[in-house]
Amino acid sequence: MSYRVVEIAVNVSVHKTFHYREPEDLQGRLVPGSRVRVPFGSRRVEGTVVGFVEQAAVSGLKYVVEVLDTCLTPELLALARWMSDYYLFPLGQTIESLVPRAVSRTKPKLKKFIRLTASPSDCGDSIVVRGKKQTELVQLLTGRGEVCVDELDAFSSQTIKTLRDAGLIEISEREPDALTDREDFLPSEPPMLMSAQSDAVRRISETAMRSEFGVFLLHGVTGSGKTEVYLHAIKTLAGTGKGAIVLVPEIALTPQLLNRFRKRFGTRVAVLHSGLTDRERADEYRRIQAQQVDVAIGARSAVFAPFAQVGLIIVDEEHENSYKQDEGLRYHARDVAVMRAKFQHSVAVLGSATPSLESFYNAKNGKYHYLPLADRVDHRPMPEVLLVDVKTLPKQSLYSAQLLEEIRLRLDRKEQALLLLNRRGFSSVIICGDCGLAIKCPSCSVSLTFHKSEGRLKCHYCGFLMRPPDTCPTCSSHELKPLGSGTQKVEEELQTLFPEARMKRMDSDSVKGRDAYEKLLQQVDRLEVDILLGTQMVAKGHDFPAVTLVGVVDADVGLNMPDFRSAEKTFQLITQAAGRAGRGGTAGEVIIQTMNPNHYAIRHSRTHDYEGFYNEEIAYRIQLGYPPIGRFIKLEIKGVDEAQTAEAAKIAQNRIRHLMRGKGTVLLGPAPAPISRVRGKYRFHLLLLSQQREAIRSLALEGKKAVEDKYNRKCQVSIDVDPVNLM
Ligand code: ADP
Ligand code: ZN
Ligand code: ZN
Repeated sequence: MSYRVVEIAVNVSVHKTFHYREPEDLQGRLVPGSRVRVPFGSRRVEGTVVGFVEQAAVSGLKYVVEVLDTCLTPELLALARWMSDYYLFPLGQTIESLVPRAVSRTKPKLKKFIRLTASPSDCGDSIVVRGKKQTELVQLLTGRGEVCVDELDAFSSQTIKTLRDAGLIEISEREPDALTDREDFLPSEPPMLMSAQSDAVRRISETAMRSEFGVFLLHGVTGSGKTEVYLHAIKTLAGTGKGAIVLVPEIALTPQLLNRFRKRFGTRVAVLHSGLTDRERADEYRRIQAQQVDVAIGARSAVFAPFAQVGLIIVDEEHENSYKQDEGLRYHARDVAVMRAKFQHSVAVLGSATPSLESFYNAKNGKYHYLPLADRVDHRPMPEVLLVDVKTLPKQSLYSAQLLEEIRLRLDRKEQALLLLNRRGFSSVIICGDCGLAIKCPSCSVSLTFHKSEGRLKCHYCGFLMRPPDTCPTCSSHELKPLGSGTQKVEEELQTLFPEARMKRMDSDSVKGRDAYEKLLQQVDRLEVDILLGTQMVAKGHDFPAVTLVGVVDADVGLNMPDFRSAEKTFQLITQAAGRAGRGGTAGEVIIQTMNPNHYAIRHSRTHDYEGFYNEEIAYRIQLGYPPIGRFIKLEIKGVDEAQTAEAAKIAQNRIRHLMRGKGTVLLGPAPAPISRVRGKYRFHLLLLSQQREAIRSLALEGKKAVEDKYNRKCQVSIDVDPVNLM
């Protein structure tokens, strides 16, 4: 007898699919995308049907055990295949990362709902509502329509039963609406768009309406009304039956932002963020599947929102590093968004005031459409930026006279000041106290890392090693010192200077969890805070109208990170921080304290000159063949035993060297990671760089395999395609 052989991507760490036999009782129920449970070795594991084959590869196939009730759309399955291939991650595990775990583990919870079947007056004499309680209930139902029994604690089950037996009410069971549905959102009139905004909306929606693939880079200065463009563009999808996905950095997913969406789209908005419980996430996921929403808004993983059809995918603050997942399936949500739009013949909109080099490069090359918003809303001025050279400050002082004076002014005027510190930066870099520059690797142009135990400076890209010099290679000064020292006391010092100021700190140490974060935002909003200081968190996306001063205390920390993107990240951070100033009626001011006032990342952020920065930065990327010109793949080799892990990294290196053919491929390392030990495991990095992505993919896989063959489980290798975090 013939039977179908099912090809299944099993959720295990193996780069291949497996064949199973379709049992008779499941015939017709399995389709590509079906989630199933199958035997695997001595266990049972979950997997996903990816296809059917005529001939089985082996005889004696095992049977599929059961079908789970979730199913991946064909389009998401195609996206998963692309991701598995691109990110060199097993297909079964890739799919697993696409579907919230809880969706296959939890059943939707059903609730009882009650509504009137007839109005009592329609029923003649046969039905009589007796007593106070019954009357109250009927009145409630008349007013509200359908009500969940959970809300009827005031009524006994007998009251409800009596009315039901009398045929007056009906009880049905269904999934409750999402949490959000209980609040009422007064719809608000959208503002009239400015002409640059409406041009952008028109071009986006024209492409979306034609069901054509297109990527738009919405490059709008801070406060230029990008969010308003998103809202209008989404509106134009109404009636097409297509959903919209809006990705925002986790940290920007505030009640403030959600309310803006709910005021426009009411309850037809699903929210996916890390603060949800598994069940809440699963419920939101099902609501999208059931087409109860038009818009899904969320952080990174919302890019997998299971709309049957997607018309628009928006990636706000597309330059944010948090879009890159740093473990497991190391995908970049922005790049996946673009691919998903491509598979769905739809539109991706990437928005930023400081686009990533990658995206701007694509816009310049005509791969993306370019939509500039050059002005702030209502022609509010961009803030004035002042650079203060901290080399001129007396030693040990953290704050310049100018900055202190301006803070004092804000306190007097009852306005708010926001201070950015990079305190939690990376301090194992040696900088020159006179010229402000970190000592760099001669061949990689990234800062060298100081390894105290060995007394050596190391390049963690190529492994270059040197003794710390006595004098600065650039200016011959003797003032060499580790970076970041002395900044620990910034907060206390400020409080001593301004004892009456209400200060709050915002960083991942002081603000734990969503609730604390949102509470702090509210306090700032209600003007209960005079000075908000913190790390990168304070720089991002907030819209506080009373902030008229932004101070960047130590702009150089980021600049000297051992990372080829350090200039880009610094430019973005300073420009974004500056963008927090003067968003209300009063003009804003920005003071940047730096040792490197002439560095191009700092110079151009002073004049809000993105293109000026881009032109200098891209020249350096071209010269070294770094992204966006070339592509990196990072191999990370981890293990408990340092010598053995170093040895394993060498094995990967040798294997790759042996296979490396053709020009244009560079292998850097192995070198210890800048953060060389994490959770008891030593880490070594190998970097593959090439102009042709295809050339290095198989090399990376071979390098991984060489280590796994020899060390089995003692050393782990992970592959990171287009790595963002090189620490
Ligand atoms: P961005 O996302 O670029 O920072 P937003 O869309 O948040 O900008 O807009 C900044 C502020 O200006 C918001 O308060 C928004 O409501 C307001 N705004 C945006 N577009 C307009 C417009 N066309 N007319 C009036 N106000 C607008
Ligand atoms: Zn120097
Ligand atoms: Zn180097």
